[in-house]
Order: sequence, then C-alpha cells, then structure tokens
Amino acid sequence: MSTSRAPLRVALLGCGVVGTQVARLIHEQSGDLAARIGAPVELVGIAVRSLHAERDPLVDPALLTTDARALIDRADIVIELMGGIEPARELILRAVTHGSAVVTANKALLAEDGPALYTAAAAAGVDLYYEAAVAGAVPVVRALRESLAGDRVRRVLGIVNGTTNYVLDRMAAEGLDLDRAVKEAQTLGYAEADPSADVDGYDAAAKAAILAALAFHTRVPLAAVGREGIGALTSDDVAWAGRTGHVLKLLAVAERARDESTGIEGVLVGVHPALVPEQHPLARVGGSFNAVFVESEAAGELMFLGRGAGGTPTASAVLGDLVSVARHRVRGGHGPSESSYAGLPVLPADAARAQFQVRMDVADRPGVLAQVAAVFAEHGVSIEAVRQAPARETAHLVVTSHVTSQRAVRATVDALARLTVVHRVVSVLRVEGA
Ligand code: NAP
Repeated sequence: MSTSRAPLRVALLGCGVVGTQVARLIHEQSGDLAARIGAPVELVGIAVRSLHAERDPLVDPALLTTDARALIDRADIVIELMGGIEPARELILRAVTHGSAVVTANKALLAEDGPALYTAAAAAGVDLYYEAAVAGAVPVVRALRESLAGDRVRRVLGIVNGTTNYVLDRMAAEGLDLDRAVKEAQTLGYAEADPSADVDGYDAAAKAAILAALAFHTRVPLAAVGREGIGALTSDDVAWAGRTGHVLKLLAVAERARDESTGIEGVLVGVHPALVPEQHPLARVGGSFNAVFVESEAAGELMFLGRGAGGTPTASAVLGDLVSVARHRVRGGHGPSESSYAGLPVLPADAARAQFQVRMDVADRPGVLAQVAAVFAEHGVSIEAVRQAPARETAHLVVTSHVTSQRAVRATVDALARLTVVHRVVSVLRVEGA
C-alpha cells in the first residue's frame, strides 16, 4: 500500500506510565503503522506538566511542551493519557471541536462525563476511541461496541481491577491478611501508595459504568453504580470461600434485570466481592490479570482475558485505537459513536437476584439450626446448602441460599441478628456465575 500521503499529525497529552510507551511504540513501529494505516503518523508533540521531570531516554525532549492547547491545534489525532477530570475534559473537547479524532484511556473521565464527550464527538463527526479505559490491553470495548453489536447481552461479569485480584489471590494462596497482601502489591508496583481507589472499588466502578453503557446501549451515571470494595474482607472470608468450592473475586457486574417490587425492566450495575464457583472461567483468573465474561443471547458465553494495566499492555490498546481512527482519516468514515438508544433505567442495587452465602457464629446446641432455617423460610429465602464447623463454645454456620432477592436476604440477616442464638453474622456474600 502506498504511504506517500502527508503524515497524520499525532499529539500526545501525557508522558507517564502509558504515554511513554505509546511514544516509544509510535517511534519503533512507524513502518508497520504507516503500512497498516495507509499514511505515516508523526508524533508532533507531547504535553506534560513539567519540562524538567526525569523521562525515559527514548522520549525526544524536543517534543515536550507544557502548552497542551497549542499542541492540540496542530494535530489530526489527539491521544489523551494525562488522566483525571480536568484539564483532560477541556482538552478533549477542544480537540473534538477542532475536528481531531481522539483516543483516550481515561476511565475516570468517561465514567463521570462520557456522554457529553460522546455527544461532542458525534456533533463534530470525529472518532472518540477508548479501548484502554477498561481492562487495559483486553479488547473488550471493541468486542461490545462492534463484535456484539448485533447480539443481545444479558450479563457482563468483569475482573477489571488487577490490584484487588492480585491481593485476593495472595490472600487465598498464602493465607495473608488484607493489609499484608496490599503491602506486597505496593512493593511490586501493582498498588498505589494510597490504594483506596482500587481497594474501595472506585476504579472498578468507573469501568463497570463504561461496560454497562456499552453492553446495554444505555447511559449509566457513575453515581448509580453500586460499590463495595474488598476493604472489609478477611483471610477467613477467603479461606471459607475455598472450603465451599468458590474463589473470592472483586467483580464488576452489569446485567439486564427486572425489579420485582416495581416490575420495572432495567439494568443493574455494581461492584462487589463475590464468590465465584471454582469451575467458572473467572475463578482461574489469577494475579494481576483482568478478565471480562460476557453472556449474550446468540453468542452464548465469551471471555476476554489479559493484562489490565501496565505501560506497554495499555499502550497496545491505545495503538490499536490509533490505527483505527487514523484509517478513518485516510479512507473516510468513522467508527461507532455512542449507542444509548435503549435508555434503560438503572435499578437500585437491592433489586438484584442471586445466590447468597451467609456465615454466622451461633450457639452450639440442639435446635439452633431449626431456628436459623425458620428465619430464612419466613423471609421466603430457600436454602441450598448448610455447612457447620465447630468452634470454641460456638458453631460456625455457613448457609447458601437458592437464587433470591438481595432485599429478602437483607431482611433475613436483620432478623437473624435479633436471634439470641446467633452471636454474630460474620459475612454476607453474593455467589456469581453459578
Ligand atoms: P501518569 O503516569 O500519572 O502520567 C500522567 C502524565 O500526564 C504525566 O506525563 C503528566 O505530566 C501528564 N499530566 C498530568 N496532568 C497534566 C496537566 N495538567 N497538563 C499537562 N500534562 C499533565 O498516568 P498513567 O498511568 O500513564 O495513566 C494515564 C491514563 O491512562 C489515565 O487516564 C489512566 O487511568 C489510564 N490507564 C492507565 C493504566 C496504567 O496501567 N497506568 C492502565 C489503563 C488506563 P508530568 O510527567 O510532567 O507529571
């Protein structure tokens, strides 16, 4: 293919973990990129906060600038890898208004204000691609936006935060407590000095909002995403998961559902720790890997697995987007814009239906099990399995329900806590993927 066309001018906003690798790959793979796109790409500048920060020697210092606006105004394609809300939002809007295609990895911004950006891009007739915003190198945005565009997705279950997956994996493998496992993740560079965005589920919630919007053609405000992190989990929770044939994972869950109390059809979107049966493909996703499991009507079950973070894997997704948007520049047309026609309501988290596992310390004497079972029955929660382990002067009871509503389980747990024979309800966890 001829590449005699004028080069496509690419502006890079940010030269950190991901930006540095994007700059490197654009430089090292320029010949292949030109052949795949049909025109050469030229990196015309890299916007950073400080010109004096230490950089990878591969980054040409002559490209660095602190004037992101001027850089955008001389680009055909803008790659935003600064992160955060502002000035990323303002700069993306400027690029779009200027007629540039945009590639971003900014999950926080897309979850917070994606629709405004998608609308601006559509109005300007330019591409806005964001494969790297969910699960790094794992090509799940493209799969939902394009490959499954003719199917009907029922449910998406994602391990979309590698830090928490690593932490839970270490807790399961070594019996570490949460703090030790988080410290280990920090030492290895998997967790930030302040791990709360990962541990408390904020990062996964942003990705859940983006996945749900793509899967169900519906706008999903970040504020509507239920969020429970792994901060309250103990090594006991992890050990008991194993004893009952499960693996504990932090899951982003998005599903079509019907709220039984109102009859409203909508989507449920949330992040929470969940017990995944050992035989489920997600249970085998170890270490810092990410995976997204999709259940759809025609395709059935699909799983996408790979590196969810790191400079080079994330840069791979960014470069894939760069090739797509650049091809459109060369050959005309553009990629899919936002699809939100379904306009489904986001249902309250307690409308969820699932199996639940309730662990509790109870008095170790005859008749206790009958009392506990009666409380479940009174609230319409049928029991699938009961396991009992003796402890000192108490017994440890693990009750797994059949599929039931979260509301019913909450009412059951409240009633159990009032029983004198129940010393403590230790944990209530959802089972996903059974
Ligand atoms: P990072 O290492 O913190 O780098 C951010 C870069 O942006 C730095 O070069 C910084 O400049 C520049 N920057 C920040 N604010 C700026 C401003 N106001 N004006 C100009 N430049 C500014 O971030 P990262 O880890 O590469 O992440 C970039 C994006 O990719 C984020 O949206 C993140 O969520 C997403 N992402 C990251 C990963 C990952 O593994 N890291 C994975 C998936 C998605 P200085 O260098 O001068 O400070």
